[in-house]
Amino acid sequence: MTDKKTQEDQVPEIKAGATLLDLVHVCRSFDGVPVIKDVNLQIRKNEFFTLVGPSGSGKTTILKMLAGMDQPTTGDIVLGGKSISALPPDKRPTCMVFQFLALFPHMTVGQNIEFPMRIKGIPRDKRVYRAQELMDMVALPEKYYDKNVMKCSGGERQRVAIARAFAYDPEILLFDEPLSAIDAKLRKTLQRELKELHRKSGKTFIYITHSLEEAMFMSDRVGVLRSGVLEQVGTPEEIYRHPNSSFVASFIGDTNIFPVKARPQGGYESPDFPGMEIKIAPTPELLEGKLIVRPESLKVVKDPSEADNVIRCKLRDSFSLGSRSQYLLTSGKKEITLELPHGACGDGTSEVLLGWNAQDAIFVKE
Ligand code: ADP
Ligand code: MG
Repeated sequence: MTDKKTQEDQVPEIKAGATLLDLVHVCRSFDGVPVIKDVNLQIRKNEFFTLVGPSGSGKTTILKMLAGMDQPTTGDIVLGGKSISALPPDKRPTCMVFQFLALFPHMTVGQNIEFPMRIKGIPRDKRVYRAQELMDMVALPEKYYDKNVMKCSGGERQRVAIARAFAYDPEILLFDEPLSAIDAKLRKTLQRELKELHRKSGKTFIYITHSLEEAMFMSDRVGVLRSGVLEQVGTPEEIYRHPNSSFVASFIGDTNIFPVKARPQGGYESPDFPGMEIKIAPTPELLEGKLIVRPESLKVVKDPSEADNVIRCKLRDSFSLGSRSQYLLTSGKKEITLELPHGACGDGTSEVLLGWNAQDAIFVKE
């Protein structure tokens, strides 16, 4: 890791919110097989940016290229206006926190956190002071300073790794699924703490997760990666409300997706609901696509006049979610899930009419 001065040389004055990192037509192939396909992305200074995508979609490959552990096959990575594609990791203002921590097992918590400062030649008293500050920042008790890291719990070790990354004082922190090996309850706590740490530190965070829920909770902006293609970039709200494909929509929580096609006589139809006109508003320009209906847009109606689109369903199953129930219904062969107050779909003896309004569904090309 470079010292403070060289880092500042590398990153000229950039205002918070302006582009810090620019990925320009980045492609990466392994043995001729393309893994990252023409990724264009601007990451802004001080933002919490999350890359999300299924396993194998290329998230780690992108992060490694940002850290300098790998290079694009073609394309460029630009930092503050200068190409850094050819710079080795120690000449970049980045530091990576891995899913499987690379802590020194024979060292104490304090020695692990001090390590980056020791290799920079920072005097002992300053190192110890800063390490204690960092421990406080990640909520590790002071008495852990002399504890062997291998005697700490998984969550504590994760905090040590984060504190150590901060000890490098990088401009950009890269996190590769740092919480995926941690149990659900502690993960929630650490998610909140990381978000707080981002806010307090004023650093740029680039975070990777395969959990969309995690991405939505923590990030300023999210990029959805699918087989090496960046499908969509936006705020969590934009991605939820305006997914640009059914892949993005289905990745973001429960959703119902139907293929739809324009009818010669006007309106749309779906093979999932034969003979029924499906109203979509505003009318799409395309003759074919998919319709996304979020569970919260669906309601149980008594009469077909109560919604623009109404389908006849049978209740198949229900699961209590505490204050609400999740219902599984079928209409023909199509399965539909939705969350409603207990009892909203009756007892399963009679048909359920399920409706949604034309403007509440999202039309996408594919
Ligand atoms: P993710 O982090 O999203 O799970 P990765 O970036 O690790 O995905 O991998 C994306 C694809 O690239 C996978 O198919 C993986 O097998 C391949 N890949 C990654 N690194 C290498 C490598 N060094 N050599 C060959 N193939 C690789
Ligand atoms: Mg990975």
